[in-house]
Amino acid sequence: MSKYLGPKCKLCRRAGEKLMLKGERCGSPKCAMVKRNYPPGFHGPKGRGKISDYGQQLLEKQKAKRIYNLLEKQFKLTFLEAQKMKGNTGDNLLQLLEMRLDNVIYRLGLAASRAQARQLVNHGLFAVNGRGVNIPSYTVKEGDIVEVKKNKKNAKIFKNIENKIKPENIPGWLNFDVKKLSAKVLHKPNIEDIRANINTQMIVEFYSR
Ligand code: SF4
Repeated sequence: MSKYLGPKCKLCRRAGEKLMLKGERCGSPKCAMVKRNYPPGFHGPKGRGKISDYGQQLLEKQKAKRIYNLLEKQFKLTFLEAQKMKGNTGDNLLQLLEMRLDNVIYRLGLAASRAQARQLVNHGLFAVNGRGVNIPSYTVKEGDIVEVKKNKKNAKIFKNIENKIKPENIPGWLNFDVKKLSAKVLHKPNIEDIRANINTQMIVEFYSR
């Protein structure tokens, strides 16, 4: 399936909640979910009609896929990997999504959105354990050191970054040294640590049909 190139805010309005896809704008009064909190389309302000169980499962899967900025195929592959792992498939799925390198960069506050984080990773700005990694889907492991490459620390995007990063937003499984622009993965994210309003059980049901 091809990449969605339409307005991102429409995806939030379709999901019925803020998916935080546009960085700073998402926290401002300009957010479309503040101005037009109803589904896009002709019937808009009349609200949502009754949604079937299947429709709800589909919505939940689409929501998770869009939050983490994945294509359908990538999302399904991640789900299949989660299924092969020991334990609860839904929890495994969330952990795998959180431990993607692009998500780690976003969680550290080095990018305003996951889409921007993906772009920065693609542009080769980061290293894991001293080696450059430009694969957004790279899965970090416990003990990994994720950092901005030495020769990229003066890049425009990181100017005054210390003032922009909010330590309270950095999850407990990452230890970030803002001065060095270097973070250590302390452990796998606990499910309670993952601040994502996603009903993974519905996603499991969607793929079990
Ligand atoms: Fe969603 Fe952000 Fe657009 Fe608001 S501004 S609707 S949170 S993408």
